[in-house]
This record gives sequence, structure tokens and C-alpha cells, in this order.
Amino acid sequence: MDHINKISNTKTLYEPSTGLPTKDLLLDRFKMNMAYGTRFGMSTAVCYLRIQFPIELLHNEDQKFENQLQKLIVSRLKKCVREIDTIGVVNSTDFIILLTNVSKEECTDILERLISHIKGDYTIKQRTVTIKIAIGTSIFPYDGRTTEQLIMLAQAQMYEVIALGSNSYRIYRGDLHNQAYRKARIENDLRYAVKHNHFTVHYQPQIQLDNLKVVGVEALIRWEHSELGDIKPSEFIPIAETTGFSNELFYWLFRTVCKHIKEHLVDTYLNTIKVSVNISIHQILTPNFEEMVCQTLHDFGLSYECITFEITESINLYNLEVVKVKLLNLKNLGFQVAIDDFGFGYFSFSDLLELPINIVKFDKRFVRSLIDNKKLNHVISPIIEMSHNLGLKVVIEGVERVQDFKEWQELKCDIIQGYFISKPKIVNDLLSTIEKINHDFSSKNKE
Ligand code: C2E
Ligand code: MG
Ligand code: MG
Repeated sequence: MDHINKISNTKTLYEPSTGLPTKDLLLDRFKMNMAYGTRFGMSTAVCYLRIQFPIELLHNEDQKFENQLQKLIVSRLKKCVREIDTIGVVNSTDFIILLTNVSKEECTDILERLISHIKGDYTIKQRTVTIKIAIGTSIFPYDGRTTEQLIMLAQAQMYEVIALGSNSYRIYRGDLHNQAYRKARIENDLRYAVKHNHFTVHYQPQIQLDNLKVVGVEALIRWEHSELGDIKPSEFIPIAETTGFSNELFYWLFRTVCKHIKEHLVDTYLNTIKVSVNISIHQILTPNFEEMVCQTLHDFGLSYECITFEITESINLYNLEVVKVKLLNLKNLGFQVAIDDFGFGYFSFSDLLELPINIVKFDKRFVRSLIDNKKLNHVISPIIEMSHNLGLKVVIEGVERVQDFKEWQELKCDIIQGYFISKPKIVNDLLSTIEKINHDFSSKNKE
């Protein structure tokens, strides 16, 4: 009891919308369970359960519908477990269920019940949505001796289930795929890393070909993990996206970028250099996205014109009309909008015609393809011309060699980014790097 009193003084025990124990209370019960288990030889199954909602629902602003849906799911969940079990809420999609004093057979029965009762169609006021679920399970004391270890193993099993198409469960059998463990670890550590400043932002210069001056820098996020080492954004950004954490990460990045602009660029290059920030469609569709970015710029006394947003994700999945309106809002406010990884990503020609954008950024794989097949010149050139006719600027990234630089110059590309100009730099080296590039390229120009 003392135990509970102690945590009740500092933390919320029940999640208000569902009435279920929060993760803090669940962890406390888990520790108790483990203590009993050790003393009386009982095992506890830890089930990590994720509900996968259809993508339209993630951006649906119908809060009432979502609340009703969550209530229905929770009431079904409660019916599947026993009185002695605990369902804890991790976030809006994830739950941890502790099955106390359970045999493997009982555990399998409960898992099967959970899958068949929770997956499938939910109809509220004539609207039907289909949800999927995935459950990963680990068992105390066989699979681990700490709550962290056991939850992470269960979560990693859940990822294996998702990779196989969901609507199923998996119990840890000591055959954990390393990749799944890494994913679970990254997901768990993301929040901690933001709070403890383990992320940094590096900046990669871009030069304009008509005057060979630096006209932009792209902000690229970096994570140095204490145990896993450097983790690439291409690995952790998709995990942040699927766990609903990408907004928090973006807000951290955007504030950091504004602080850096204020401290490093305002007195020197603010009028000539734009800072590109990568965003995903998830962010744009967040209802208060514009207010948040405008407020942050305002807090730092910066104008909208200094930011270019690079959109990196699939637009096809979403309602193009909604995206168009959102992009137009950003453009009208004075931001530049670029589509990233054009040609190899999800964007198509029709997106160039339809979307209110300023810049098209060609994927770096074009550079490689052009090295391998010179004839591609005749294909790329008309695309660049068409982009110009639409009033768009063309950026190529991934330019590593002088030959490529010259080729893209001949192709009449507007802006170049790549290791040939500079690798991404820490903010303290940014000004000296820009000065050096401007100096080196102006002397090249005179040669
Ligand atoms: P991106 O936006 O297309 O960024 C360009 C990537 O190409 C960067 O990788 C950059 O370091 C790399 N690069 C630049 N020049 C060269 C070159 O000459 N050769 C080669 N081989 N690579 C070059 P990075 O930093 O690993 O980022 C990868 C992707 O992760 C980015 O692709 C972007 O989609 C995403 N990303 C990075 N930072 C953020 C962020 O803050 N938010 C979001 N949503 N995504 C981010
Ligand atoms: Mg980018
Ligand atoms: Mg790119």
C-alpha cells in the first residue's frame, strides 16, 4: 500500500478518458507481480498490444467519434481478460496487459480471444472503420528479470507481428530477430532522447548556380545514441511517424533551428540564406501546425521568408485537396515549399502541376543514374525545363564529384547540394563553411 501511496502522490494513476491504469501504475503493479512471482513461483505474461487505425482516422478531427471508438475498444479489451489482470494505457494506440499467474496455455487462449474480439469492424452512427491489432508477449521469469527488458521484448515481438501483416500475436521464444529488438529500443528511447537533448541538428549548404553563392542550408537531424551509436534519420523518423511521436520531434527541431538562425545567421546571412526543414504530411495535417510554426518564428523574432519546408512523404495516401489547401496556406504566409526526393519517391508529374509549391528537389539517385547512363540527360533535361515553365526552382542533391557538378550545371539546374559543396556541418562550423564555399567558388568562377 505504501508503494501505491508513494506513486499516487506524484503521478496520475488512471488515464482519464478510459479509466484504465496509466503506465506508471501498471509498472508498479508489474513490480509487485514480479515480487510475488519470485516468492511463490508464479509467472506473469506481458502483452504489448497495438491498435492500428486506418490512416484517414489519424487526421480526422472528429474527436467525438474517436472517443466513442476508444470506449468500444476498451470495453471489448476488458471483456477478454480476467479480474486479476491489468490493462495499462501507453498512448492512444498502445496498451500493455499483464496476465498474472498464467500458464502458457491460458496465455495463448487469452491472446486468441483478444485478437478475435478486437480486430475488425466498428460501427458508430452508420460509420464503419476497420482496425487491425498486433500483440507481442514475453513471460516473467523466463524471458527477463526487469520490467524494461520484458516490455521491450514484448514490444519487439509486436513489431514482428506487424511486419507479417498484423491481426495476430507472437510469444517470445528466444528467437528474437535483432532488427525487431532494435526497433523497439529506438521507439522506447525516442522520448527520453528528446528530453535529454540527445538530438542535434546539422546543416548542409546549397549553392545557387547563377552566382555560385550559398543560398540555403538544409537542417538534418542527428541522434547519437549512448549504446546504439549514431542512428540514421532514415531509421528513426519512420518509427517516430508510426508511433505518433514525429510532431514532438518536429517541434523540438523547429525551435532548435529558429534558435540557431537567431544566433548564427541573423546578423550575417538572414536575407540571403533560407533554411530548409524536412516535414512529413503527418505534420502538415496536424490541425494547429501553421499556428505552431508561426508562433515559434514570432518567439524568435524571425520572418516566414527564412524557412523552406521540404515535404518528404507520400501524398497519394491522403486527400490531395486537403494537402493542397494546407500547402497554399503555408505559401501564402510567405514560406517556401519544396517537394523532396522527386523522381524516386511518391511524387508524380501531376503533383508538380497541381500542388502549390516553389521548389522541386530531385532525388540524389538521379546523380547516380546519370553517371551510369549518360543518355538519361535527354530525359532529365525536359523535366527541368518543364519545372522552370511551371515557375519552379530545381534543386539537385547528392552531388559528390566535380563532373556531376558540371553536368547538372549544364542541365540548367538552379541549386546544388551535396558532398562536393560540403557535408552537413554542426552549427558552430556553419558560418565559416559558408564563407569558405563562397570564397572558393567565386575564385573558381573567375578561373
Ligand atoms: P533528405 O531530406 O533527402 O536529405 C538528404 C540526405 O542526403 C541527408 O541524409 C544528407 O546527409 C544526404 N546527402 C547529402 N549530400 C549527399 C551526397 O553528396 N552524397 C550522399 N550519398 N548523400 C548525401 P540524412 O541526413 O541521413 O537524412 C536522410 C533523410 O532523413 C532525409 O533525406 C530526410 O528525408 C530525413 N530527415 C533528416 N532530417 C529530418 C528531419 O529533421 N525531419 C524529417 N521529417 N526528416 C528528416
Ligand atoms: Mg530534405
Ligand atoms: Mg531528398
